[in-house]
Amino acid sequence: MDHKPATIAVHAGRPAHEPDQPLNVPITMASTYVAGGDKEYGRYTNDAWVAFEETLGRLEGGRALSFASGLAAIATLLDLVNDSVVVATEQSYLGTIGQLADLEGRGRLTARLADFSDTAAVVRLLEKLDGEVALVWVETPTNPGMQLADLPAIIAAAHKAGARVVVDNTFATPLLQQPLALGADIVIHSATKFIAGHSDVVMGAVVVSDDTLWEVLKARRDLLGAIPGPFEAWLALRGLRTLHLRVERSAANAAELAERLAAHPAVAEVRYPGFGGMLAAVLPTAEQADFLTQGTSLWVHATSLGGVESTFERRRRWKTESASVPDGLVRMSVGIEDVDDLWDDLAQALDRIER
Ligand SMILES: *Cc1c(COP(=O)(O)O)cnc(C)c1O
Repeated sequence: MDHKPATIAVHAGRPAHEPDQPLNVPITMASTYVAGGDKEYGRYTNDAWVAFEETLGRLEGGRALSFASGLAAIATLLDLVNDSVVVATEQSYLGTIGQLADLEGRGRLTARLADFSDTAAVVRLLEKLDGEVALVWVETPTNPGMQLADLPAIIAAAHKAGARVVVDNTFATPLLQQPLALGADIVIHSATKFIAGHSDVVMGAVVVSDDTLWEVLKARRDLLGAIPGPFEAWLALRGLRTLHLRVERSAANAAELAERLAAHPAVAEVRYPGFGGMLAAVLPTAEQADFLTQGTSLWVHATSLGGVESTFERRRRWKTESASVPDGLVRMSVGIEDVDDLWDDLAQALDRIER
């Protein structure tokens, strides 16, 4: 049925409307099932995964598979690459960069990192590598620079070069960006973030439009075993039920805060892609950024993102963060609180920064 995303988020993956059926799929804690049916063993399937996968799949316009974490999903995907090139966004999630470096170090693939906000340069690179590239790995908006990639142009160039396109849709969510509809082959999610949305679950997912690729990845998941627990999947689905409301409020708050931050004299630059709940504020120095992240009472200095509560982080505190990220960049994950309270908390710290 052709329902809108808000309706899908609320209604997909539920038991049939029949007397005595629960409205929600119950948590089934089972490592094994009586033989002779389709389920057999707890590593192959779980009712909560299936309900979660049906809901996320319909939101993304494809078929989903749940994984133990975003990185487990990414590892399972990269495990399909043998002896070829992966072209990836330079400012990708650090764990993605870490996996690419690890696989490259073991001779499994060659990673080429590129600035995906420069479409012409990426297209030229793909033309040069025609026939050698297995995957083009796009993160947009980038993490943490908040730059955008031109997905249709990059997807076209990647397909011309014989590559499959993976989009990490964690920041945008399927409500604000639907890569499969734009022609991408694979979407991955850290469901830990906006999808689950309450900073209490680690989980991941892959979504594809091709049934054969789904079967291949399902077989890899069966074999490699990177599965979520039933309770995690249940919580992630519970979070997904309100994704549209949370994303709407986060995005409205983020847009408002982006304007107010840009007008504050302590802030050198604000990067907000114009949608979603993530933004970055650049302060002139690391010390000033640290002062901000230590000087608030609502905003929590913490890594990760996409929860109902506002969190922020000076990204270069991580030694492995890309040198293209300014020292004083504070990545902000805007929650669903009252925007004036969020601003007052930021402003009292910004006002006290020595300039
Ligand atoms: C967090 C994150 C990941 C990794 O997901 P985990 O659930 O932490 O394993 C991948 N990509 C992006 C964009 C992320 O923010």
